[in-house]
Amino acid sequence: MTGVLILVEHEGAGVDELSLQALTLARDVAGGDPVIALLVGEGGRDAAALLGAYGVSSAYVAEDDRLAAYAPGAWAQCAIELMESLEPGAVVAAGSNRGNEVMSHVAARRDLPFAANCTHVDGDTVTRVRWGGTLLEEARVHGTPALLSVAPHMMAAATVNGADAPAIEAFTPALSDAELAVRVSEHVSTVTAGVSLADAKVVVSGGRGVGSAEGFAILEELAGLLGAAVGCSRVVTSSGWRPHTDQVGQTGTKISPDLYIACGISGATQHIAGCKGAKKILAINSDAEAPILSSADYAVIGDLTEIVPAITAELRKARGP
Ligand SMILES: Cc1cc2nc3c(=O)[nH]c(=O)nc-3n(C[C@H](O)[C@H](O)[C@H](O)COP(=O)(O)OP(=O)(O)OC[C@H]3O[C@@H](n4cnc5c(N)ncnc54)[C@H](O)[C@@H]3O)c2cc1C
Repeated sequence: MTGVLILVEHEGAGVDELSLQALTLARDVAGGDPVIALLVGEGGRDAAALLGAYGVSSAYVAEDDRLAAYAPGAWAQCAIELMESLEPGAVVAAGSNRGNEVMSHVAARRDLPFAANCTHVDGDTVTRVRWGGTLLEEARVHGTPALLSVAPHMMAAATVNGADAPAIEAFTPALSDAELAVRVSEHVSTVTAGVSLADAKVVVSGGRGVGSAEGFAILEELAGLLGAAVGCSRVVTSSGWRPHTDQVGQTGTKISPDLYIACGISGATQHIAGCKGAKKILAINSDAEAPILSSADYAVIGDLTEIVPAITAELRKARGP
């Protein structure tokens, strides 16, 4: 068969935004041939029912009690089973941590090349994001099916007109103990003040310029007023001022809020790799030559210990008692 098999991540019945974005590229790759979704575990059937609007013609839901917790080897086995029975021209996943991990397992187990974080596919030529977003590489992928993941936040999760609900079929994958040996055993929440860094519409972030763990109190106060999450640079996590889960950047979380407020952050490429998906960046920095100013839409030059409380005070005044 031709067409594309896509691994769709979901939390219960809610489809992950990055998977919806990946479907946009998957449709392009399919070029009018069927787009078939693979969903794994609880809530898969409900989530699959929503995918017609994104051009999915049929969906397979892998069901087994042992799939309740994420297990990369087991997810890869589900993908391999479908890949070998459906023989699609390409297998696609979101360029999320899980998407890239599962595809790496599939590639290694079937000795196939895997192109991660693609933004465009033309035949066997892919354009993909490298080096934390600082480089776009054009590469040829030699292998059938082509294994691809889609760079996060590089394309919209576009819907299609007049699509029917997909046909949904459940299957039980043949899972070995070895495939379940590595699995999620516990979830530790990364949510700050009720808003997760990855999903927040506004992020107030601090760097070395904040000066200390205690210095983050003024950022937290502003974040609380804006319903924002608090983020930080790697210097901050390395200094132990904030947990690694708060780090924005190449080796931290990649975010795409409507507004990113960077306080006392110089704007190293590894940091920008994590926040360049923001629609607007406001930099607060005492150095008018700081590199972050070339990425910022707005800047306030000055001491953040004066500017951040001043913004908070203005917000409180504007909102009234
Ligand atoms: C492989 C690798 C991966 C990396 N991954 C990441 C990553 O994921 N995320 C990340 O952030 N970094 C990452 N880094 C580190 C990165 O290169 C920078 O070192 C780091 O981002 C700098 O953090 P910073 O901006 O907080 O500190 P600095 O570069 O020291 O900048 C501090 C800024 O604060 C300003 N400032 C100081 N005092 C004040 C004040 N009172 N008011 C206002 N402004 C003030 C200064 O003008 C300066 O611009 C990585 C590095 C490597 C090599």
